[in-house]
Amino acid sequence: MNAPVPGNCLRAPCEKSIPAALSTERLCLDHFLDEAFLRTDQTFDQCREGRAMKSTDLEWLLADALAIVQNLEEGAGEPNPEQRDRMLELLLLLANLHEYVAHHSIRLNRLA
Ligand SMILES: [Zn+2]
Repeated sequence: MNAPVPGNCLRAPCEKSIPAALSTERLCLDHFLDEAFLRTDQTFDQCREGRAMKSTDLEWLLADALAIVQNLEEGAGEPNPEQRDRMLELLLLLANLHEYVAHHSIRLNRLA
């Protein structure tokens, strides 16, 4: 079950509750999806331009975001169809990014 955690989304003036799967992000589902799409797009652009990127960004997308979306998918009892579509779209994008990174030698700036 995905019981809402106490507290509201960090994005003011958003008053939506935070699903349990997003408790570490402190964002409601809509804002999490906005953020994840934005970060995925930016990361894809950086990959295509051959720019080095921070390994933490990529790790967030490929590990955290993926796990969260999968969690949401499983936990969502009666998801709003629009949110469900966005989650599936994000999963697909993340899978593509994963492929891209695996097949191209992406330069990562490891943080010391
Ligand atoms: Zn929100």
